[in-house]
Amino acid sequence: MLEKVVIANRGEIALRILRACKELAIKTVAVHSVADRDLMHVRLADESVCIGSNPSSQSYLNIPAIISACEITDAVGIHPGYGFLAENADFAEQVENSGFTFIGPTPDVIRLMGDKVSAIESMRKAGVPTVPGSDGPITDDNDRTLQIARDIGYPVIIKASAGGGGRGMRVVNSEAALLNTIYVTQSEAKAAFGNDTVYLEKFLQNPRHVEIQVLSDTYGNAIHLGDRDCSMQRRHQKVLEEAPAPHIPEDIRREVAESCVNACKEIGYRGAGTFEFLYEDNRFYFIEMNTRVQVEHPVTEMITGVDILKEQLLIASGQPLSLSQEDIIFRGHAFECRINAEDPKNFMPCPGTVNHFHPPGGFGVRVDSHLYSGYKVPPYYDSLIAKIITYGRDRDSALTRMRNALDELVVEGIKTNVPLQRDLVRDGEFRKGGTNIHYLENKLEL
Ligand code: ADP
Repeated sequence: MLEKVVIANRGEIALRILRACKELAIKTVAVHSVADRDLMHVRLADESVCIGSNPSSQSYLNIPAIISACEITDAVGIHPGYGFLAENADFAEQVENSGFTFIGPTPDVIRLMGDKVSAIESMRKAGVPTVPGSDGPITDDNDRTLQIARDIGYPVIIKASAGGGGRGMRVVNSEAALLNTIYVTQSEAKAAFGNDTVYLEKFLQNPRHVEIQVLSDTYGNAIHLGDRDCSMQRRHQKVLEEAPAPHIPEDIRREVAESCVNACKEIGYRGAGTFEFLYEDNRFYFIEMNTRVQVEHPVTEMITGVDILKEQLLIASGQPLSLSQEDIIFRGHAFECRINAEDPKNFMPCPGTVNHFHPPGGFGVRVDSHLYSGYKVPPYYDSLIAKIITYGRDRDSALTRMRNALDELVVEGIKTNVPLQRDLVRDGEFRKGGTNIHYLENKLEL
């Protein structure tokens, strides 16, 4: 077992990692910026090291400082959480070259999945369903490109291979605009990502976002933990998630999950990962793989009873998966509402002091949060301050619990999106299940 681990992150996920380490008797080192010295996990960790000033570039993205913290505390591994350096192959490589364990996949696999063209290519080879498209980069053979788009049918979407965070994508509605849009997307991709490779795929008009959670060890074993629906989004940011994804035929659900397990074996995946899909008209279309733990992992933990963070630590310790696919029993339904420090009307971040925090509780209610009364939300980082997770035997009871939990929740002193979440869990269409990725933005425009 890893003896001591550096938690290279902050906020709720740092606390989540710390709790998993404690259960496995792994010692913890919190690394933090100046503004973050009062974070809950910094208080609870065995040791803490201030690694730099407040901007992330000086602290949570400061690779030499993080590796030095590992060295001076005699830690043996680094957990990157999500965001920051979690999907940075160069970071993973430097961690391993310095003799430490990176708690995640190998640098090569992170790199392979970070490039969308190569990711899609390896998925197609492994039998994962992908979006009909150019099957590789767009070349300068314009006749061929025009023919591909004609065969697929408009609208199509042009995407930068190195793109991320919803950037580097453009929709084309007709042939007249195709070549020029490709040119513009290439130039932008070159400027933004230093790589002008773009590809083309069918633009799905009203899909849902459904993703599959996997776990793989270093001995070639892989399992899936089912699916999550994260269609409730604003500007590509997930707001409310659930597991399992509602109203998907069981055979289709099983088939796509099995294809992901197969892909993990084919690419030599290690650790926890997520295959993201668009889902439309009973079909799954792979869009990308996230090579890290996701914000929404708790809904999967609730319906499977598997502690994903603990599994990450066990896999990184070199242990074989303790569970086989047959051991995974899906039970009940779970929701997660992300609580952000932001104005519920214009979504502007709203940092400041939380004068009073009262989390909800009771049977089937889980709160993953670093908040406490008196905590000051700094302006420098992501605005996520809490995740309210509810579980029930079925979708209705989990949703009822979420309505009650949100009504109990008190966060005073700063503005939060709690009013929006209270509204969403009472929304008639959402209650039926299966709303698409445009639903929230359309609702907000009304
Ligand atoms: P990023 O890495 O920037 O998040 P993704 O490939 O995951 O890029 O796509 C982000 C979002 O863009 C998707 O969740 C979806 O809303 C939209 N999108 C991407 N590809 C398509 C497509 N082929 N059809 C429709 N929407 C798409």
